[in-house]
Amino acid sequence: MKWLCYSFCLLFALPALAQTSIDSAQLMKDVRTLSADKMEGRKTGTRGSRMAQFYILDRFKKIGISAYHDTYEYPFYFQEGDKKIMGTNLYGYIPGKLSTVIVISAHYDHLGNSKTNGADTVFNGADDNASGIGGLLAIAAYFKKHPPRYTLIFAAFDGEEEGLQGAKAFVAQPPVPVTQMRQNINMDMIAHNDKNELYVCGTQQFPDLKKYTDEVAARSSVKLIAGHDKPESGADDWTKQSDQYEFFKQKIPFLYFGVEDHPDYHRVTDEYSRINHSFYYRAVQAVLEVVKKLDSDMPENKYSGARTM
Ligand SMILES: [Zn+2]
Repeated sequence: MKWLCYSFCLLFALPALAQTSIDSAQLMKDVRTLSADKMEGRKTGTRGSRMAQFYILDRFKKIGISAYHDTYEYPFYFQEGDKKIMGTNLYGYIPGKLSTVIVISAHYDHLGNSKTNGADTVFNGADDNASGIGGLLAIAAYFKKHPPRYTLIFAAFDGEEEGLQGAKAFVAQPPVPVTQMRQNINMDMIAHNDKNELYVCGTQQFPDLKKYTDEVAARSSVKLIAGHDKPESGADDWTKQSDQYEFFKQKIPFLYFGVEDHPDYHRVTDEYSRINHSFYYRAVQAVLEVVKKLDSDMPENKYSGARTM
């Protein structure tokens, strides 16, 4: 029986493995590396932030994301009290058949070091938002192998925790005209949920997108729930709570993927060991499936006549 099962399982497991489109080991390595103590909490303008940038830049190069103007690095400045702070966005693209763009984004910055004298002083930000960057890199790796219809921009934003500064800078000085951006997909906290629930926010504002998320939800192994986007729900409306808001303000449709707050949210305990590894892998799969669906089926016509590349 043992042997029978062994050969049986092997027979059926192999084709499934062959179809797996996300490298789970790489995904976990990306989150583990970015949330390590050595990254010092990736606060904007710090040494830890620079180290995180080097890691992401290396991954961009290895995946084969193209650079606009020969660089992935886009510095920007913002004022915090009487201090002028420099942030750095990282972005590049995978060309599609269309010059119209889907922007896939996640912020890599986090809160830095705690000022207290406790034993653990690093805000690791494993879920917030090393997880989103891991997702972004996995999606880029997929589309590098399976060329997209839309041109895909992959944007790793800095300064989200300082008030969506990186996303603000991106839309203020975009690599392609804002009118050429058809859609934003933003990921912020997609790795930590004990109830197997991933929210997708934005179908309230953009009901045309619901059919795509519904279709993926029906076959996804996470509970992909449309919500957290009703203006009357106050703080439960997440529209303004991460980088997608800067796209929304530019009238660019968005879908934001994220989990509900957990006890480790914005604490030093938001560490690699606390994320739900299986949930995370499946959450990234669900986001990838939505992007694939939008890429293949979403009509390009929102900004017809605006193709000014
Ligand atoms: Zn975040």
